[in-house]
Amino acid sequence: MDKLTPMMQQYFAVKNEYKDCILLYRLGDFYEMFFDDAMIASKVLDITLTGRNCGLKDRAPMCGVPFHAVDGYVARLVAAGYSAAICEQAEDPASAKGIVKREVIRVVTPGTIMDSAALDANKNNYLCSLCVGENGSGIAFVDITTGECTAKELAKENFTCAVMNELAKFMPIEVIMNLRAYENTGLVQEIRDRTHGVVRNYYDWAYEEEAAKKKVTVQFGSLQEASLQDKPNCVCAIGALLLYLEETQKTELKNLKQVEVDRDAENMQLDMYSLRNLEILETLRERSSRGSLLHVLNKTRTSMGSRLLRKWLTAPLMNCAAIANRHVAVDELVKDPLLRAEIVEALKKIADIERLINRIVYKNAGCADLTGLKISLQQLPDIARCLEDCQASLLRQCLKNMDVLEDIAKLIDTTIDENAPATLRNGGLILPGANEELDKTRNLMVNGKAILNELVEKEKEKTGIKTLKLGYNKVFGYYVEATRMYADKIPDYFIRKQTLANTERYITPELKEVEEAVLDASTKSVDMEYELFCQVRDQVGRAFDRVQRTAEAIAVVDVLCSFAAVAEKNGYVMPEVNMGDKISIKDGRHPVVEQLNKDHIFIPNDVILDNRENQVAIITGPNMAGKSTYMRQTALIVLMAQAGSFVPARQAEIGIVDRIFTRVGASDDLSAGQSTFMVEMNEVAYILDNATSKSLVILDEIGRGTSTFDGLGIAWAVAEYMADSKKCGAKTMFATHYHELTQLEDKIPNVKNYCIAVKKRGDSISFLRKIIRGGADESYGVDVAALAGVKKSVVRRAREIVASLESEEKSQVQDAKIHTKIPEENGNQAQMNFLGAAENPVLTELKALDLNVITPVEALTKLYDLQAKA
Ligand code: ADP
Repeated sequence: MDKLTPMMQQYFAVKNEYKDCILLYRLGDFYEMFFDDAMIASKVLDITLTGRNCGLKDRAPMCGVPFHAVDGYVARLVAAGYSAAICEQAEDPASAKGIVKREVIRVVTPGTIMDSAALDANKNNYLCSLCVGENGSGIAFVDITTGECTAKELAKENFTCAVMNELAKFMPIEVIMNLRAYENTGLVQEIRDRTHGVVRNYYDWAYEEEAAKKKVTVQFGSLQEASLQDKPNCVCAIGALLLYLEETQKTELKNLKQVEVDRDAENMQLDMYSLRNLEILETLRERSSRGSLLHVLNKTRTSMGSRLLRKWLTAPLMNCAAIANRHVAVDELVKDPLLRAEIVEALKKIADIERLINRIVYKNAGCADLTGLKISLQQLPDIARCLEDCQASLLRQCLKNMDVLEDIAKLIDTTIDENAPATLRNGGLILPGANEELDKTRNLMVNGKAILNELVEKEKEKTGIKTLKLGYNKVFGYYVEATRMYADKIPDYFIRKQTLANTERYITPELKEVEEAVLDASTKSVDMEYELFCQVRDQVGRAFDRVQRTAEAIAVVDVLCSFAAVAEKNGYVMPEVNMGDKISIKDGRHPVVEQLNKDHIFIPNDVILDNRENQVAIITGPNMAGKSTYMRQTALIVLMAQAGSFVPARQAEIGIVDRIFTRVGASDDLSAGQSTFMVEMNEVAYILDNATSKSLVILDEIGRGTSTFDGLGIAWAVAEYMADSKKCGAKTMFATHYHELTQLEDKIPNVKNYCIAVKKRGDSISFLRKIIRGGADESYGVDVAALAGVKKSVVRRAREIVASLESEEKSQVQDAKIHTKIPEENGNQAQMNFLGAAENPVLTELKALDLNVITPVEALTKLYDLQAKA
C-alpha cells in the first residue's frame, strides 16, 4: 500500500468498499478502471487495455471511457451481469489541494439501472428481495424506473414452488436475499436458471425485523400505511430492498408508490407451469415473445400500455364487475373505430412518461427527456376530449384519473430548447425569453464588443474626445486610446496605462467592469442555464403524482384500445363472464395457432365444462390431431376473458376460474437435474394439492414418461381423483393416448369422452380437427408415421408388428388392465410379459424399446436394423 502512488491509494480505499462492483474512477475527462476491473471491462466493452504507473514495479492494467459516454458503457457492463460503481470528483480540481477528493455517487446494478437505453420499454425492470425466515418467507419486487412495489408472504410448505411462481410472473433481473435463502444452493441455482438474473446475498442485518421495520416506516409512514402490519416477512424483504436501493442510488427514494400486498385473492392464479406451458409471455422453446399470447394481443402504442398488458395477462381478474367493466369499454372502442383511431393517433406520440417522470425525480433526466415529456403531455387534451365522448365507466374513470398537465407542458415549452444538446454543461438548454437575467448575460456574450463600443461612444460624447477608440491587448485587455492633442480633455477617472509616440492608452472602471462581464458572460450563462434547467426539472418533478396517475390512466386506455383493435382484426367476441360454474364456448379458436397458420383454415371447436356431468373431459385421438391445441385454446380463452379481452369464439360464457393448471407436453426442465418423468409427476402433485372446484385443469398425456402400465395406472388414478367432486371437482380436460381411460365415462357420471374426428380412407388418414363426443377407436400411430413420410415398406412392417403385438397383448394382459385400477404392484411384471415368451432377438430388442420417447427418425432407423436382423 505504501508504495502505491497517492492517487492509487485513494483508488484502493474506494475500491475496498465496492469490491463487488466494477469501479469507474473519474480522472479528468475519463472514467478509468484498473487491475481486474480493467481486464473485465476491456473485454466486455471491447476497449483497449493500457497501463498506468501506480507506484509498483509493474504498471496497473487500465482502461477508460470518456465521461460523456459513460451511461452507454455502464449499461453494457450491467447487461453483462456486472454492477458498476461510479466514482466522481467531489471537488473542483482547480481549487483542490493535493489529491482531488472523490466519492462514489451511484452504483448501477441490473435491477437498479435507470438509463432508458438499457431498459426494455415493454417490460418492467424488477429487482426482487427474498427473505427466508424461520416460520415463512417474504418476497418483494420493486421497479425503480416506475416506482412499483409489490410484496407477498410465502408459507413454508411448497416454498420453492411458491417462489418460482412469483419469479415467473415478475421475471426479475436481479434477486437479493438473506443468508438463510442464499445457503439453499438448490434454490439459488433454480432462480438463476429460471430468471437468468443476478442473484446475490445481501447483508443479513438489513433483513432483521427491527432494522427493516425502521426503513419501511421511514419510507411509507407506518406499517399500517404500507398495509404490512401483519406481514412480518414482507417487511423484512422490503426493508432490505429499501436499504439496497438507498445504497445504490445514493439519494432519497422519492418515487416509490404504495406497496401492493398479496393480490392473490383478487386475481386468477397462474403458476409458472401455466405461464410457460400456455406460452402467455414467451414461447416454450425459443423463449421469444413471437408466438406468445402477449404477442398476438399486443397492439399497444405506449410503453406503459405494453407493460400493463403483461400484468393483465399474468394476473387476470376474478371480480365479475371489474371484468365486465373492461369488456364494456373494449366493446365501445370496437364499435367506434373512428374514436379509437383518434385516441391511438395521440397515444402514438406519447413517450414513456411513467419512466420519464421517475428519471426527472431522480435528476437523471436531460433536456430531451423534458421535451419528450412535453410532447407527450401535449397529446393529453386530445385524449381527454375523446374520452369525454365515451360512455363506458372504465373509460370515464380513466378520464377522471387523467390530468392534462397543461401547466407542466407550458413550463417546459417556454423554457427548454427542443434542440438542446445532450450535455447539460455547454449551454444551449434554455430558450430566450425564459429568464431576463440569462437573456442579459447572453446578450453580453454575443454582443460583447458592440457593448464596449457603445460605452466608448458614450465617453466620446461625454468628454468631447473625437478620436477616442477601443483597443485590446493581452497585457491589460480592453482600453481606450486618445491622441495627445486631447490631453486636456482626459477626465480624472481615465487611468493611464501606456504612452505611445502619439497616443495615450487608458482604462476606466466602467470599461473594466463591462469587460469582465463580457468575458465572464460565456461561463456565467452556461452555469445559469444549467441552474435554470435544474429548477425546471425540479418543478416538473413536483408534478410526480399527477404524471404517474395520468400515466396509469393512459396505460389502461392503451390496453383497452389494443384489446379492441385485436378483437376487430381477429374477429373476437365479447365473452359473458359470471359467477356460475359453466365454461361454454361455441366455435372457439386458438388465438395464436390461428394466426400462425394463416394458410390453413383453423377449425373452430365447442367446449362445455361444468361442475356436474361435464366436469372431466377425456380427450383421445392420434398425435397431431389437435388435442393440445384444443385444450390450450380453452385455457387461453378463459384467461383472455378474465383479463378483460374479447375472445376468439362465436360465443363464450365463462364462469369465473380461480386458477388454471396445466400439465402440457414434455418439459424442458432437464437443466434442473430432474428427469422428464420426475418433472411431470412434480407438476401433477402440485395440481392435485392445489386445484379447487373453481379451477380449470389441463392435463396432456399424463404418465407418458414411464412404463406403459405405470403410466396408465397414474393417468387413471389422476383422472378418477379429478372427477371426484368431493376431493377436487376442478373442471378438467384430460388428453390421453391411453384408450382405457374412456371406460371412465361409464363408471363416473361427470366424465365425458371426446375425440378428434379422423377421416380414414384405406391406409391413409386425414385429421378433421373437429372435436366430437366419444372415444377414439384407434391410436393411428402408424398412420401418423405414414403421414410423416416414413417409407412405405417400414409402415407396412410396423402394421404387421402392431397386429402381432395387439393379439399378444389381448391374450395376456387385457384383463389386468381393465380390472386393475392402479396396477402398480404387477406393473413391472406385466411389462416384462408384454411380448409374451419371445425367443426371437428381434422381439427382445423391440421389447426393450421405449416407444413413448423414441422419435420417428429413431424408430425408422431401428426398424431398418430389425428388418436386417429378421
Ligand atoms: P396433438 O396434441 O393431438 O398431438 P396438436 O394440438 O399439437 O396435436 O396439433 C397439431 C397441429 O395441428 C398444430 O400444430 C396445429 O398446427 C394443427 N391444429 C390443431 N388444431 C387445429 C385446428 N382446430 N384447426 C387447424 N389446425 C389445427
